[in-house]
Amino acid sequence: MLNTVTDSFADAATDGLTNTDLAIELEAKHTARNYAPLPVVAHSATGAWITDVDGRRYLDCLAAYSAVNFGHRNPTITAAAHAQLDIMTLASRAFHSDRLGPFNEALSRLAGKDMVLPMNSGAEAVESGIKVARKWGAEVKGVPAGLANIVVAENNFHGRTISIVSFSSDPVARDGFGPYTPGFRAVPFGDADAVAATIDENTVAVLLEPIQGEAGIIMPPEDFLPRVRRICTDHNVLMIADEIQSGLARTGYTFACEHWGVVPDVYLLGKALGGAVVPLSAVVADADVLGVLNPGEHGSTFGGNPLATAIGTTVVEMLATGEFQSRSKELGARLHERLRALIGRGVLAVRGLGLWAGVDVDPALGTGKQLSLALADRGILVKDTHGSTLRFAPPIVITAEEIDWAVDQLAEALAHDLPR
Ligand SMILES: *Cc1c(COP(=O)(O)O)cnc(C)c1O
Repeated sequence: MLNTVTDSFADAATDGLTNTDLAIELEAKHTARNYAPLPVVAHSATGAWITDVDGRRYLDCLAAYSAVNFGHRNPTITAAAHAQLDIMTLASRAFHSDRLGPFNEALSRLAGKDMVLPMNSGAEAVESGIKVARKWGAEVKGVPAGLANIVVAENNFHGRTISIVSFSSDPVARDGFGPYTPGFRAVPFGDADAVAATIDENTVAVLLEPIQGEAGIIMPPEDFLPRVRRICTDHNVLMIADEIQSGLARTGYTFACEHWGVVPDVYLLGKALGGAVVPLSAVVADADVLGVLNPGEHGSTFGGNPLATAIGTTVVEMLATGEFQSRSKELGARLHERLRALIGRGVLAVRGLGLWAGVDVDPALGTGKQLSLALADRGILVKDTHGSTLRFAPPIVITAEEIDWAVDQLAEALAHDLPR
C-alpha cells in the first residue's frame, strides 16, 4: 500500500513505469475530468522554465494563461509572500487590514481610477462587474428593475460561472448548464455598428475583451474599441474591459486598451495580479460606478485578504516601473517577426500584440493538439485553442535567445513531427 505520490515514485522503476505515468494514473482516478492536459507532470518551476517529475525541463510558453507574466517564483514576489506569511494571511473583511488600503491605492493609481473591489478569481471579477453595472443601471441610469441588458461579444471568454456561460457562444462551455441567466445580447466581435444598433435605453454596459484570448488571440479592427468607447459615452453605457488575460504587461502595455488610446469605465483584472502565487482579481473603476455598492450588498470571504493584497501591491509596484511592459513590447516584436517568418512553412497566420501570439497552423499538417504534443517532446509547453491555433504567451522574463529557440523548435516540429 503506497501512501504518497513520492512513495510510488520510489517504486516506479521496478514496474517500468515513469514518475509521469504514475502521477497521471493517480490524478485520473480522483480528478473530475474537466481538463484534458498534455501528458506533462509539472513538479517545480523557475522563471520561464518548468521541470517535470522525471527531471525533464520545458520552456513555459503558456504562463498559465498569463497568470505567470512575471515568471515562476519571481524572487521579488515570493519575498513579499514569505514576509506576509510570517505576519498574517487572512482576516476577512469583517475587520480592516493594513494591507488592503495600500493595495487599493496602488492599483487605483496604476489604472487611473478611484476605487478597487478586490475579489479572487477572474470569473468572480466578471460577475462582480456585472452586478455593479446592473446596480449602476438601476440607481444612476434609472433602468427599471429587472430590465437591464449588457452587450457582449460573440466568441467571448469571461469565465465559467452560470451567468458567464449564459452569454458564451461556445456549446462546450454552455450546453447542459441551463437554465441560463437572461440580460445579455451578443454581437460579432469587432462590429461597432452592431454594438450601436443593439444598445437601447436599458443597456447598462458593453462588456468586452479588448483582444479575445481564448478565441485565439483575436485582434479587433483598429477603430473598434475607440468607436465602442464613443458609443458608450454617447448612450450613457459603461464600457467594461475584461483585461484579465490581456492586461498587466502581456501586450506591452499595462492595459491592452492603451494600444488604441481607449480608457474604459471599468477594468476587470485577475490572473497576473496574484503574481502566480495566489488568486487575486479586481474590479477597478471610478467612485460614480463602484460607489453604488453599500455594506452587505456584495462580498467575498477571501477577497482582499492580507496575503493576496501584499502580493498584489508588489505586483502593482513592479508594473508601475513600466519595465515589464517595455520588455513585453520589445521581445514581442521579436516573437512576432520570427513567427511571421514561418508563414508559408506550415503557419497560415500570426496574430496578437506584445508577448502574446496566436499562431494558426495549416490544418492539413495536423491538429493544434498534435503540434502541442510534438513541442512538449521538444521541451516547449504551449496550448492549442480552437482546433489548429497555438497560443504563445511566455512569462515576460523569457529571454530573446529562448524565444528564438522556441520558434526554431516550432519550425522543426512543423517540418518533421506531424503525421501527413
Ligand atoms: C481566464 C479568464 C477569465 C476567468 O478567470 P478565472 O480566474 O479562470 O476565473 C475571465 N476573463 C478572461 C478574459 C480570461 O482570460
